[in-house]
Amino acid sequence: MPSLERWVYAFGNGRADGSAAMRDVLGGKGAGLAEMANLGLPVPPGFTITAKLCIRYLESGTFPDHFREEVDRHLKQLERTSGTRFGSSARPLLVSVRSGAAVSMPGMMESILNLGLNDDTVGGLIASSGDARFAYDSYRRFVQMYGDVVFELGKGPFETLLEKARRRRRVQRDIELPADDLAALAREFKAIIRARTGKGFPDQPEEQLWGAIAAVFRSWRTRRAIEYRRVHNIPDDMGTAVNVMAMVYGNRGDDSGTGVAFTRDCSTGENILNGDFLPNAQGEDVVSGTRTPLPLSRMRRGALGKVYRDLERIATKLERHFKDVQDIEFTFERGKLYILQTRRAQRTGVAAVRIAVDMEGEALISSDEAVQRVPPQDLDQIFHPMVDPGSPVTVLARGLPASPGAAIGEAVFDADEAKALADKGRKVILVRPETSPDDFHGIVAAQAVLTARGGITSHAAIVARGMGKTCVVGAKDIEVDVVRRRFRVNGRFVRRRETITVDGTTGRVILGAAKLALPKVGTHYAKLMAWADARRRLRVRANADTPEDAKRSREFGAEGIGLCRTEHMFFEGNRITAMREMIVATDEIGRRRALAKLLPMQRRDFEGLFEAMTGHPVTIRLLDPPLHEFLPHTQADVAKLARTIHLPVSRLKRLVNSLVEANPMLGHRGCRLGITYPEITEMQARAIFEAACRVVARGRRVVVEVMIPLVSHVEEFRRQAQVVRRVAQEVFHAEGRAVPYRVGTMIELPRAALTADELAKEAEFFSFGTNDLTQTTFGLSRDDAGRFLPFYVEHGILPDDPFQVLDRDGVGKLITMAVRLGRGARSELKVGICGEHGGEPRSVHFCHRSDLDYVSCSPFRVPIARLAAAQAALEEAGVINRTRATV
Ligand code: ADP
Ligand code: MG
Ligand code: MG
Repeated sequence: MPSLERWVYAFGNGRADGSAAMRDVLGGKGAGLAEMANLGLPVPPGFTITAKLCIRYLESGTFPDHFREEVDRHLKQLERTSGTRFGSSARPLLVSVRSGAAVSMPGMMESILNLGLNDDTVGGLIASSGDARFAYDSYRRFVQMYGDVVFELGKGPFETLLEKARRRRRVQRDIELPADDLAALAREFKAIIRARTGKGFPDQPEEQLWGAIAAVFRSWRTRRAIEYRRVHNIPDDMGTAVNVMAMVYGNRGDDSGTGVAFTRDCSTGENILNGDFLPNAQGEDVVSGTRTPLPLSRMRRGALGKVYRDLERIATKLERHFKDVQDIEFTFERGKLYILQTRRAQRTGVAAVRIAVDMEGEALISSDEAVQRVPPQDLDQIFHPMVDPGSPVTVLARGLPASPGAAIGEAVFDADEAKALADKGRKVILVRPETSPDDFHGIVAAQAVLTARGGITSHAAIVARGMGKTCVVGAKDIEVDVVRRRFRVNGRFVRRRETITVDGTTGRVILGAAKLALPKVGTHYAKLMAWADARRRLRVRANADTPEDAKRSREFGAEGIGLCRTEHMFFEGNRITAMREMIVATDEIGRRRALAKLLPMQRRDFEGLFEAMTGHPVTIRLLDPPLHEFLPHTQADVAKLARTIHLPVSRLKRLVNSLVEANPMLGHRGCRLGITYPEITEMQARAIFEAACRVVARGRRVVVEVMIPLVSHVEEFRRQAQVVRRVAQEVFHAEGRAVPYRVGTMIELPRAALTADELAKEAEFFSFGTNDLTQTTFGLSRDDAGRFLPFYVEHGILPDDPFQVLDRDGVGKLITMAVRLGRGARSELKVGICGEHGGEPRSVHFCHRSDLDYVSCSPFRVPIARLAAAQAALEEAGVINRTRATV
């Protein structure tokens, strides 16, 4: 007989069939529950149905034969261990049925609590607890969740009835409703379900259970879950597991409750237990934000002190065991604590750095592991702006600082509107009473999220933090009026599309646009980056065009400039006039006259760059873009230029028109300009070397790299290099000193990559211009790609946007080939890349594996590239992350 595949794994009572290592099978929640049971922690008993079944069920619509028996067997076992029975009117077994995928998708899928209740068993719950309010509260919750999730009616119809009941009794909270009202609500909920679906509510617990299992599987494919996976790059074929576990009751009075705890502060990284809790409540009350919870620290003293200390002990144990900060769900029932979930806590970039460095200090992890812990792109957040502490602001309200940074935008009150405005390029702040998973697309679109209710573990807070987005929650003084699209705060209205500032670092909501400033980075960051720098092999340079950019890039740790685009220098002030004069000159004499005006300006810029880079190499690219980019386009501009250079307007117009190209990207640009007008190259070379000599004369070291752009044939390079070298000699002779320099080429055309051996005989370095190389390899223009590239990525025709993530299979193949050919011809050839990819972690990994000497990226991305380069080196060295992540 073939052995049967196993679908169900039990946990509870100090043991489990699974463990944290089985995340793919059990999902993160199931794996965490199993691991905690094995550790002897107080986890209610239950079983996990493997995620392997999810897609299979969704595709076939049925369950495999022996699966039903397997579930029945585990139910029986659960009844034995819990001393209760499904359908018993004396001691009924109630369970929760919970989703949980291998990768955490907070709040995206569904869970149902108190399953097993019907008009009989509710009597058993009353008898065993002596508390009718509690029993009917559990009953109405169950029918409500079942109606929402299994009958797919959503939350709306039930909330409306609840709201009515609260109004009738003049109470604020559901827990204040008397037992009779709650019993009536359960009946009315069932009536709604029948009215809307034509189906009766299932009374049999087994039938309830099977309906719930199927619904949890189905929740894998809700729109919001699919959208979440798309944004977070989570595969669609993973599926969710289903966890069935015995209920524990946080709604049994004031010595009961539920909450969420973080073992450290996930906003700042500080090592303190923190979180939210609600007395007399069930789990979903905390996360849904429908009641504003209390800070965990309130449990410390008084009647709940013992529960708090138990929690503290377990939190420490979990953190030491998993070697990472945990996000823990707990419930206490009449003073006894239960742990219902643990997972790796989401954290801000600032917190990630501090936690990794602190944990190294506590000998929980090594410095190598600390380096691996921080997602490189999260470093971005460390350089997020904050509200300038020195500038005056009008604080409208204060809430909880849920995710740091400061953001300015127009207040909007609806996720769809947030998205629509953001698509039009507006910056918006999503303001809601609280958020739910249906607001996800609005959160993605917004600069920041502001909610009136909810704690630091509310939906808005968790989602925003995960995306590194500024967020303030629980700003209690704000009354959000979603219908009239405005909020009221202390007697004043803030209307739709009025500008506000949200300060997620301090929790302030500020009227208007506050002045923002960059924070100072701390010692944790410095320590982590020092470890990273010691580990990486790749050098990291910056793309910088101005002395200011160069200075900033040094502060970010750049070890040189990998790309200085000289043309940017021509747009400043009145330089453009001299440039235009040069372009429209009809002969060499005219061109040289104009170039002579440009020379001192360029020289000054280069001096600034060399000064700022203090001995680190500076790669200067010669003029690259098509000339007509510099020309005047409006009537007025043409007339003005005509006056300055004494040309009739009609003549100038004709000249301008003659420079228009059908396909400028592949036209008269790059080295083709210097080949046809060598005097341009001559002027630029002169400016570079004269600047270098002057800076050296002031006692500084200078390393010059002159880069010839858009070379396709070695002869182009040869001729341009000749001009550069001749001018260098002339300048050195005149100045009476020499400066070390190299002449190299940018590789951005496939032909250059294919003939890299020829090129390397002449060129002393290569720099892959991966933006153009991607365009020319794919034969697609980045400026026009917007019409189809997003479609390609969304439909999986391309795995990623190749302008963001380097296309390893195509463009990457050209790169590795060119490196091999080039180094074959010149072993000391220096090789780097200078496209946008230089600051993208996956592309940096590729550059490391391809044995490049350096990557160059925009100044802000330099830290990201440094960390990514270190992680690539560690991965190569086989340093494994010891985190027993359950996500
Ligand atoms: P989510 O992924 O939305 O957090 P969960 O499956 O974790 O969904 O459950 C929702 C809430 O119900 C959580 O607060 C959880 O702690 C609580 N909960 C789940 N199972 C039980 C149970 N057996 N007893 C008491 N509370 C539970
Ligand atoms: Mg949960
Ligand atoms: Mg280019």
